[in-house]
Amino acid sequence: MNGVTHLDVAVIGTGYVGTTTSIAFAAWDHKVIAVDSDQMKIARLNQSILPFYEEGLERRLERYRESGNLSFTDDLEQGITRSDVLFIAVGTPSSPDGSADLSYVEMVARQIGQMMDKYKVIVTKSTVPVGTGDKIKSIITDELKRRNLSFSFDIVSNPEFLREGRALYDALHPERVVIGCETETARKTMAALYEKVEAPMLYTTIRDAEMIKYAANAFLATKISFVNELARLCDKMGTNIMKVAEGMGLDSRIGPQFLRAGIGYGGSCFPKDTAALLNLAKEQETMLPVLQAASNVNRTQVSWFMERIHHIMGSLAGKKVTLLGLTFKPETDDVREAPSLKIIEQLLQNKAIVSTYDPQGMENVKKIYPQVAYKPTPYEALEGADAIILATEWREILDLDWTKVKDLIAQPYLFDGRNALVPSVMRNLGYCYVGVGIDGRG
Ligand code: NAD
Repeated sequence: MNGVTHLDVAVIGTGYVGTTTSIAFAAWDHKVIAVDSDQMKIARLNQSILPFYEEGLERRLERYRESGNLSFTDDLEQGITRSDVLFIAVGTPSSPDGSADLSYVEMVARQIGQMMDKYKVIVTKSTVPVGTGDKIKSIITDELKRRNLSFSFDIVSNPEFLREGRALYDALHPERVVIGCETETARKTMAALYEKVEAPMLYTTIRDAEMIKYAANAFLATKISFVNELARLCDKMGTNIMKVAEGMGLDSRIGPQFLRAGIGYGGSCFPKDTAALLNLAKEQETMLPVLQAASNVNRTQVSWFMERIHHIMGSLAGKKVTLLGLTFKPETDDVREAPSLKIIEQLLQNKAIVSTYDPQGMENVKKIYPQVAYKPTPYEALEGADAIILATEWREILDLDWTKVKDLIAQPYLFDGRNALVPSVMRNLGYCYVGVGIDGRG
């Protein structure tokens, strides 16, 4: 592979990470075969239709398919035999005990061992617990032994740090690339793959790279929970968490990001990755009390917020509540572990009549809560509302004509779960505006 910069790459798994990673490698002029076992997904990708919403990705998908740098298949063997570098980008969801479910990763490792025909670099992009690289290595070695083959291969850990909603930008302009590898050949291959990226490359052991991903997500989750915990106190004391966080964030040692108080973190990463790290620590008989507390705060943040609503509105039975925003954050259709789901659950338990609007997330939530009224426009969702809960700060929602909204609703209660609207503006319009930790004494 000396001096070669156009590599043949297979990316196994075409979810948010696999598809984005494939597009980034194609953009850097590698030849990418993206593989998924979901034939429907592959059929759509072969028509340049993304299986999820991510701004700007579909255009690139089409461009690189047309240029020949990117193709999609459900034939794993084709992907494996035609490529020198194999990326594993399948899901690692939470098991019931919180540990990472590695069954998809292990299955792919087995398949690689059953199908590989020569030396390969096998890279884990999926977020996996420390020691998974060793596991993949032993699974592949066992499969090769079964086939009486003994050629070598390298294992690499290359965790992904992209943010949904900014996935393409993050993949093309990462702030750092972490490479956990054991051999010079693997290191050179990874350097060639990322040759066009202007970002620090951090080379580590495989185990360190695996830990870096969990540590980074655990730290960000803790930052959010810390500010949410303070918000609860601010609410009691009549202090404003927005100002407090601003004052904290101006300290460069702290930084302003991930300091916005709200209804807690969700998504496919923070909840499952904190749970997996806590589980990993438990297996090692090591306590992580800080992370445990961060996880507890997050688990109870929606209930805390709902208590505020009950305190102000009394019983919600028979009241019409409009939930604005469903996705775990704006600019994605991902509703995995979204706080909105907990809100819906609690509203329904309290016999509220729930209507909702979200620019991208309604189809996914409809499958879980068919009893909610999903409206094609926010204004229709807001008609006759006794209370509004803002759960996701989509620009479209923040930019609503709030004067018009005021005429549509029955009562002016507005609960901003993201502290995303300007309280004084909303109050001047006549809303009874309640944020998170900014104005209460309740
Ligand atoms: P996803 O669920 O969207 O996609 C996973 C894909 O893998 C699915 O399309 C599935 O059909 C496919 N798959 C499963 N088994 C397969 C097999 N045997 N062969 C081929 N394809 C198979 O998952 P995602 O959100 O893209 O996350 C993937 C990994 O990346 C996870 O470990 C996650 O923690 C990590 N990660 C996710 C993000 C994010 O923002 N989503 C960010 C960083 C890291």
